[in-house]
Amino acid sequence: MATTTRFAPSPTGTLHIGNIRTALHNWLLAQKASGRFLLRIDDTDSARSREEYVDAIRADLAWLGLHPDGEERQSARLAIYEDAFERLKAAGRVYRCYETAQELDLKRKVALGRGLPPVYDRAALKLTEDDHAAKAAAGEAPHWRFLLNHDEPIRWDDGVRGSQKFDPAQMSDPVIRRADGSWLYMLPSVIDDIAMGVTDVLRGEDHVSNTASQIQMFTALGAAPPRFAHEALLVGSEGKLSKRLGSLGVAAFRERGIEPQALIALLARLGTSQPVEPVADRAVLAAGFDLSTFGRAPARFDEEELARLNTALIHALSYADVADRLPQGMDEAAWLAIRPNVTVLADAAEWWAVVTGPIAVPAPDEGDRAFLQEAARTLAVTGADWAALTSALKSTTERKGKALFLPLRLALTGRDHGPDMASLLPLIGAGEAQARLERAALAS
Ligand code: GLU
Repeated sequence: MATTTRFAPSPTGTLHIGNIRTALHNWLLAQKASGRFLLRIDDTDSARSREEYVDAIRADLAWLGLHPDGEERQSARLAIYEDAFERLKAAGRVYRCYETAQELDLKRKVALGRGLPPVYDRAALKLTEDDHAAKAAAGEAPHWRFLLNHDEPIRWDDGVRGSQKFDPAQMSDPVIRRADGSWLYMLPSVIDDIAMGVTDVLRGEDHVSNTASQIQMFTALGAAPPRFAHEALLVGSEGKLSKRLGSLGVAAFRERGIEPQALIALLARLGTSQPVEPVADRAVLAAGFDLSTFGRAPARFDEEELARLNTALIHALSYADVADRLPQGMDEAAWLAIRPNVTVLADAAEWWAVVTGPIAVPAPDEGDRAFLQEAARTLAVTGADWAALTSALKSTTERKGKALFLPLRLALTGRDHGPDMASLLPLIGAGEAQARLERAALAS
């Protein structure tokens, strides 16, 4: 069967860096196998799901260039869930319960107090049809649990964690449906993974125990479980799962001038044994994507590493790559001159504004005024040729090094650092450069 992966966010907020990583890894896994990558909107929780988040998730994936090969929405599939639920009911694999959250909490505490695992005691399984009828007459609606088969050991070979084994007798039968009829995530996810032919479920290790229950749901529905892999979670550079990471999303990265390529290059390899490098070509990242290189320790996300990677990738961008994002009139020569001084692409516009002017020129040192006037006269002869200008000035004024170059740079750009003057001067142009030198000589 062709590899099919899915990214299954709940639209209860915007994507954060951890979700983005999961989406990317599912995309890479599918890409490597020339398979399919699906987007599944897990919106069964109608109270918390919002349409604006669905749109934001789509927009974020588009910005990242992770285009799904198909999209499904759980809210449109309720009839399918109902059907599967009826089959499980007929097979005796789901049952009605009435305990309140407080009662369950008390049961857990009692179990723990007796040194037992806090596993649901299946008290509701003992209820008779008369009991259920009495509950119904009293206006009590049941919630539903999936009945784990205690005689069916749970095992899988996890793509990241290796061989996994769970004893179902040590697990609570998971609640799959609320008293109001709405679905929890567990069962619909399995029904969808079967229906959509998902071959690989790759998600965070916070889902490991869900997987244990879901494996029995696949079997109960007559399907072979997919391959599972659970990645170690992402932590901040300080080694903790910070609140900050939870709010870091595409909007924040865009605002900071982070290119999608940088985020992708970092997240593709972070937490693996492969080196994080400024790889711009996703095909290269996909070809090398390998779950067996993933470590079990949390992956550390370092914003400075991301910024460095971003700059390295920008320095490799050709004019054609960025032309549509550069200011009007900025041509290839200008991009190549300015590129080494760009950390985020927005810097290019700032340097271009220096080229086109007007610029604010600080008053020169008194001793530099005559020199700048001389420079203006010389430039009228040499034209916008930095080597010719500076070598002529060197011999007429006997200045060299900083005394020669710095006043010129300040007068011509208004700044004491920046792109190579030899490339910048022709962009400014002889006429404008001469005018700037004359103005600087008199500036106060
Ligand atoms: N909607 C679930 C979540 O966001 C999906 C988990 C899964 O990948 O199965 O946690």
